[in-house]
Amino acid sequence: MEEIFFEQEQIVTVLTDQPVNGGLLDYVISENSINLGQFVEVPIGGRSCIGVVWDKGSTKINRIKLKRVSRTIDIPFMSNDLRKFLIEVARYTVNPLNKVFKLSLGAIDFKNPPRGKKVYKVGNLELRSITPKRKKVLALLSNFPNRFFTMKQLTSSLDVGAGLINELVSLGNIETHFSHHSTPYQTCKGIFSETLSKNQKLASEQLCKLVSLSKYNTILLRGVTGSGKTEVYLDAISQAIVMRKQILVLVPEIALSIDFVKRVINRYQVKPGEWHSGVQGMERFRLYNAVAKNDVQIVIGARSALFLPFADLGLIIVDEEHDGSYKQEDGVCYNARDMAVMRASILGAQVILASATPSLETWVNVQNGKYRRIDLKERYGDAVLPDIEVVNLREQKIPKGSFISPSLRDEITLRIKHRQQSLLFLNRRGYAPITICQICGFQIGCKICDARLVQHRFKNKLMCHQCGQSENIPSVCPNCCTNGNLKAVGPGVEKIADECQNLFPDARIEILSSDSLEDVSQVEDTFSRLASGEIDIIIGTQIVSKGHNFPNITLVGIIDADLGLQGSDLRAAEKTFQSLRQVSGRAGRHKKVGKALIQTYSPNHPVILAISEGNDDAFWALEANARRKAKSPPYGKMVAFVLTGPNEKILFDIGRKLVGIWLRSYQIDARIFGPALAPVGKIRDRFRVRMLIKCNKTKDIQPKIRKWLSSVSLPRSVKILVDVDPQNFF
Ligand code: ADP
Ligand code: ZN
Repeated sequence: MEEIFFEQEQIVTVLTDQPVNGGLLDYVISENSINLGQFVEVPIGGRSCIGVVWDKGSTKINRIKLKRVSRTIDIPFMSNDLRKFLIEVARYTVNPLNKVFKLSLGAIDFKNPPRGKKVYKVGNLELRSITPKRKKVLALLSNFPNRFFTMKQLTSSLDVGAGLINELVSLGNIETHFSHHSTPYQTCKGIFSETLSKNQKLASEQLCKLVSLSKYNTILLRGVTGSGKTEVYLDAISQAIVMRKQILVLVPEIALSIDFVKRVINRYQVKPGEWHSGVQGMERFRLYNAVAKNDVQIVIGARSALFLPFADLGLIIVDEEHDGSYKQEDGVCYNARDMAVMRASILGAQVILASATPSLETWVNVQNGKYRRIDLKERYGDAVLPDIEVVNLREQKIPKGSFISPSLRDEITLRIKHRQQSLLFLNRRGYAPITICQICGFQIGCKICDARLVQHRFKNKLMCHQCGQSENIPSVCPNCCTNGNLKAVGPGVEKIADECQNLFPDARIEILSSDSLEDVSQVEDTFSRLASGEIDIIIGTQIVSKGHNFPNITLVGIIDADLGLQGSDLRAAEKTFQSLRQVSGRAGRHKKVGKALIQTYSPNHPVILAISEGNDDAFWALEANARRKAKSPPYGKMVAFVLTGPNEKILFDIGRKLVGIWLRSYQIDARIFGPALAPVGKIRDRFRVRMLIKCNKTKDIQPKIRKWLSSVSLPRSVKILVDVDPQNFF
């Protein structure tokens, strides 16, 4: 990269993570020379902030008024391509640059970077001024001239105080260092699978060819669960390794990274770099630096890994590309899948989107030739796809308050008899979604949110799934004060577990939901017990539907297939299709034939029909057609806005004002809807008012939105969230 640098007393524009002027402020350089892209500390107001040298400064400003750059920060310079990426993300998501810059800092405090533990070794002995105690310390240290000791080791083994050690440090007799406990990331050779089926081999060759071109391209790798997508894209990773390029693999959930890390170790005998919320402090800082210095080859991460400062990224894999968790829904709202394509197109890198059930967005991009596509149609080896059976709940009556049909019960009994495992899927955490008073009909809700409280029996609490607050389960109705008449209504995974325990008293039953995700090691533990056959029935929410291999699960029961189909979400059918297809795919992944039972009140719904008949393409075509007619995404573009604040009326006033301006100035560009109170009208005592803009897909609406929003100044207490390509409308 061409280096551009500035000299002492020149003026530069620095991009900071602070909101003042969108983050861009001018400063005078104190150093001899500073590079474009170099990280610096600068004063703002009374505080000191991190920034990056972004541009040459304005010559119009009176330099007397300008402050000076305080110091440079010792991390690798920001590359030109990352800079372009930040600009593009800010533009696409309609956010100020400072917010996107902040994302790229990865929650690391670069002003006071985490350091390893302080360790001590012998220093310059000529400077000694001897006392008996000092002599004792130095004698030990000089016996081990190359060894580092911790303070604790020194003070306890020598029975001296920390003060004495520090004296010797200041005299120069002892040196201090910071230990980096962890060993460096190891490099590996590209290793290709030798057991590919004919189809897999073709796919692998095609992917490797694309990677070797070092050009931007996106390809959809579509294959049923168990078809070997991972096996095949590991070959593409090997090809990138051969070309000395870095590789980023995005996974939708931390729990899934556990599996993938194992696969990488299996194939390459090295551990990949990991980047997600479970990686903190020193580890985070270390990976950030290693990525920038090209000291790590493979990185696996959550969506935010896209913002890491890769030195030479050649391949991005988005596993389970359809997954909703790729969408960040607060702060800067972005879809990591789409931003991965954006980053790769800036870099000239290859993207592989892998899924058994691609998103309609991707499906359409394939149809119109923007993306390529490879199919893996069969499962690998002897594994066959599960039989799918629909249980019509209109015919099979289930007693009130129960949720497991006689058919499902019989199938589970059979599995227990044959020592096989069953998986029951219900996308609802907790015990019951509603707690209702049987006398007055009152439903217990959150005090600060527009949401009902969900009963959690294991925690013995009522919890709000919006704000996370919880309270004890009362025995007295808060409304009519009668005692003992509160009833938990509707199913949650915990209630299904109760029902199973009654039906199968000897079965070993466990629950896996996002409540378990609070503790990743616990999830890991559950998975390994599942794998070793210590669990008979696993009951789970969305998280069991994804990616994992559970060889001994031969039955999948979907408790309520209709759950996701209710509601007004434009993607309701698509999302339900994806999750039902994914969960059913968990059954019979190895030699044993699997079966999936789908409980529904609407067996003729197109989604249920497509799943049971295995006719995925027909479903996509139907769904695509409906969206095209409605000019909905992916055929139309949507941008959602959520105004939040403590006063509902003020929000509506601002909303109406904004809508008025849009109608006057931009109506030919796009239609606007709202303002309307959001379906969840209040979270954490802040009201929520929504607006929605709908326009043609090809329209470059973002610059207009930016201009439009800047025409109204918001009171301090009001915030506006801009969500381009929204997934959720709550
Ligand atoms: P997917 O990612 O499509 O769900 P995986 O790559 O996880 O599929 O493959 C499913 C299972 O089959 C895994 O246990 C994997 O190790 C095995 N498998 C797939 N392809 C091969 C292959 N070519 N050689 C050996 N094992 C394979
Ligand atoms: Zn709440």
